[in-house]
Amino acid sequence: VVNSDKRLKTANNHTATHLLHAALREILGTHVEQKGSLVSPEHLRFDFSHFGKMSDEEIAQTEALVNKRIRENSPQEEEREMPLQQAKEIGAMMLFGEKYGDSVRVIRFGESVELCGGTHVKATGQIGLFKIVSESAIAAGVRRIEAITGESAEQFVDEQIAVLKSIKKLVKSPNDVIGSVESLIKENSELTKKAEFFGRERVKQIKTGLKSKIISEGGINRIAARVDVEDAGMLKDLAFSLKGEVENLFLVLGADIDGKPNLTVMISENLVKERALNAGQIVREAGREIEGGGGGQPFYATAGGKNVAGIERAIEKALSFIR
Ligand SMILES: [Zn+2]
Repeated sequence: VVNSDKRLKTANNHTATHLLHAALREILGTHVEQKGSLVSPEHLRFDFSHFGKMSDEEIAQTEALVNKRIRENSPQEEEREMPLQQAKEIGAMMLFGEKYGDSVRVIRFGESVELCGGTHVKATGQIGLFKIVSESAIAAGVRRIEAITGESAEQFVDEQIAVLKSIKKLVKSPNDVIGSVESLIKENSELTKKAEFFGRERVKQIKTGLKSKIISEGGINRIAARVDVEDAGMLKDLAFSLKGEVENLFLVLGADIDGKPNLTVMISENLVKERALNAGQIVREAGREIEGGGGGQPFYATAGGKNVAGIERAIEKALSFIR
């Protein structure tokens, strides 16, 4: 039973390649020639000559035409021993480069006529349903269609409808799903813009606060603080923005970002040279206090870690390099 079921499905898929071949020649043109095909009980693959990617519309038209031929339920007409010359005259599709004997087996389903030794259905209606699942290039001028038929195609359609139903539930709009998703995308992009704006405002605010706490000592303007930011990007913005505004800067920032400690050190380039300071080395050593590691350049470096409780100690440790 299992084997005959597999044979049946293979015959469905193989016969569908005949219908597909004829449909492609009708929709894309008679330059379409079969370059190869692979058929299993699960699916079919059909390679053919064509110069470019098929449009969504061409794919839909091809699929619709094959399904129309299936519904026409054309019976298999088999001619076991037709002279090759006669087969050519009636326009039977043959594989280029294939050696054929003097008499050939011709299989006809409605308008599709091919020389073929494969196993076919008794009538096209048995195929049930045909769905193209992919269309791609496999070589210059050669395209590949992968498709499914019968139960597999039915299952595929059911799955797609189930996905659509779930989306309808999620967006709570049974009638205008596309409109709802479009407005969600628009809303999301507006919210992102707003969040970015407020993020920038926050950075400005924190920066103003930090600048009011500068301690100037021995030719160094020192800023050391634990700050409240949402992400590492805000810390970086803060550090680079302060570097541009404060001369002789030695900046140490600590932050707890989603439960993870973060340490940032920024040093004005002239101090790096004159005082032989190295932000990379400083974060590596101070980073131990937050049970982490990091690195960077001599003027800017960051470290991430595991121990939020060590942030204050890490800041103190970093400051010890200029004391
Ligand atoms: Zn065949």
